[in-house]
Amino acid sequence: MLKLSLAALSREEVHAQWEIPADHPMWENTRLELSEPLHVEVFAHEVGEGVLVRGRMRTVLDLSCRRCLTRVRREIDEPVDLLFEPLTGEERDELEGEVYPLPMRGTELDLSESLREQLLLTIPEYVICAEACRGLCPQCGVDRNQATCECTPEQGSGPWDALKNFTFD
Ligand SMILES: [Zn+2]
Ligand SMILES: [Zn+2]
Repeated sequence: MLKLSLAALSREEVHAQWEIPADHPMWENTRLELSEPLHVEVFAHEVGEGVLVRGRMRTVLDLSCRRCLTRVRREIDEPVDLLFEPLTGEERDELEGEVYPLPMRGTELDLSESLREQLLLTIPEYVICAEACRGLCPQCGVDRNQATCECTPEQGSGPWDALKNFTFD
């Protein structure tokens, strides 16, 4: 899966599509949790010594709200735009993330690592279930979207409280 034949690429443009199951081993040991399969469709052709792979990928990621930890489903529908070049080790370090190494030998171009990386880049830094999410109570852990608790905010727990005791000489 996610492999293109280099022999076919040397002859013509290659069109390919795949559906990778949400529980496929390629998502193991990553931060990626899919709640739907990943659909990938690409067109690939040679450019100079390299290969340009363009298309689209779609899936639904399972994330969790940074405030209340609820599951948040995030639809992903992103362009795929990957360039593979025969790189030396040094060039590879320099161009990391922009250009992927084209295998020097072998008969296939494996897209799985680059696509996994591209998918990781789509995860937003700060995921919240809703702008108005009130999060969990830091003292008793109750979900403040669902219930209220009797906890009173601790003295000195606000971000600016430390400044109150601060005196300027
Ligand atoms: Zn939330
Ligand atoms: Zn509480």
